[in-house]
Amino acid sequence: MNIMLFGAPGAGKGTQAKFLIERYAIPQISTGDILRAAIVDGTEMGLEAKKYMDDGKLVPDSTIIGIIKDRLQKDDCKKGFILDGFPRTIAQAEALEEMMKDMGISLDKVISLNVPDELIVGRITGRRVCKECGASFHVEFNPAKEEGKCDFCGGELITRKDDTAETVEKRLEAYHAQTAPLFKFYSEKGIMVDLDGTKEVEEVTKDIIKVLG
Ligand SMILES: [Zn+2]
Repeated sequence: MNIMLFGAPGAGKGTQAKFLIERYAIPQISTGDILRAAIVDGTEMGLEAKKYMDDGKLVPDSTIIGIIKDRLQKDDCKKGFILDGFPRTIAQAEALEEMMKDMGISLDKVISLNVPDELIVGRITGRRVCKECGASFHVEFNPAKEEGKCDFCGGELITRKDDTAETVEKRLEAYHAQTAPLFKFYSEKGIMVDLDGTKEVEEVTKDIIKVLG
């Protein structure tokens, strides 16, 4: 079960990924995480990536692909994997395809959790966090008993700097610009699955199971 997962920030990707890991006993391969791990482990590809990063340069696609390949060859990927956060460009998608072909594997499904932007903006901008204990609330879905005051410690509730409509909209814009060509790429290959991410978490999970079996 080789899966790729797409979802805008706030679309519930993390929750569904957790479920997939358990149900199918496959690991989530997040490029940021494996890049850090490769550097810590001092693998050939990790050292190469570190050189670029130390110079303040972007790690080239070929190095990232090498790091992903190393990771996919580990035992825990024998039953499959969930690729997360990669590819971000068509060039990367093509390189990934080529690499997987060399390994004799291919992607089974690319799953996208589709949530309209305005809903995501509402989910994120409604968040309130306690300044003192870090407890999290939502003005609509999980309001504090007394407005602006933490239920647990009485601390002041604030909006995180990154949770403003402007920041969220910018992130969404970047997400759509990045993913639109990839959606087309994988749709043409017949493996793109666009799921309604506005449903209850359990319903989305059921839809995913229907697709993956
Ligand atoms: Zn508190």
